[in-house]
Amino acid sequence: MILSDFHMHTTLSTDGESEMKDMISAASDKGLKRICFTEHYDQDNTFGENEDDFVTDVDNYLNVYNSLKDFAEKKHIEIYFGLELGLQTYLADDYHILAGKYPFDFIIGSSHMARRKDVAFPSYFESFESLQEAMMVYFDAEVANAMCHNDFDIYGHLDYAWRYVPDRPESFVYSDYADSIERLLNVLIKKGKGIEINTAGFRKGVGQPNPDISILEKYYELGGEIITVGSDAHKTADIAADFDRAETILKDVGFKKYAYFIERKLHFEDL
Ligand SMILES: [Zn+2]
Ligand SMILES: [Zn+2]
Repeated sequence: MILSDFHMHTTLSTDGESEMKDMISAASDKGLKRICFTEHYDQDNTFGENEDDFVTDVDNYLNVYNSLKDFAEKKHIEIYFGLELGLQTYLADDYHILAGKYPFDFIIGSSHMARRKDVAFPSYFESFESLQEAMMVYFDAEVANAMCHNDFDIYGHLDYAWRYVPDRPESFVYSDYADSIERLLNVLIKKGKGIEINTAGFRKGVGQPNPDISILEKYYELGGEIITVGSDAHKTADIAADFDRAETILKDVGFKKYAYFIERKLHFEDL
């Protein structure tokens, strides 16, 4: 059973809706054993009103987190200090310094942008001839990020751009991107980095987790073993959402364990 939710945001992230204390209470009420906060840190982004909207004030975040440790203990739940980095290749040096500056338990590397554009907006897709080309460029940007960056533990929601495809087709066609995805997974496996199963896809109408099951199957086939589970909750109600479905999917693919991180060290638990 999955009792660790390792991807969530609080009001410390620009788009978070619930206070950290309420997130702790809700996670405890749901019977989780441990959670990790992964506030946004997207340096040099273009998607907020201001450039630093999605750059969490980490000093303040650490203070708030530390002030709630006793509360979490009373609620019988372990809490951990993580971050979701918005990767772009040229940010690798800055993120290396950041990762060394704070006592992070876990760091997700994510691609919210490709070619300096936010993929959550139709204008990203409109700048390409076809949906296939837009998605291919997105996956290739992830390959470049995976090669340039080292300061992350798992790569977040690998097919995130798929959530935002205008008039999205019913199903994701793995073979359209097979080369790029295989290259990406091989780079991650070789570097000892994991991926996640992010259940927000179910809430966003994709009908699949992120990434698509076909990508999870390829990761398993290539020998990938490190997979964390995250709801990507931005409010209490979404904590551990669809974890039962995630568990069934992971078992069907062949995974026996899921991963979590403490002090950037890898741990496994049986599914
Ligand atoms: Zn994300
Ligand atoms: Zn997130």
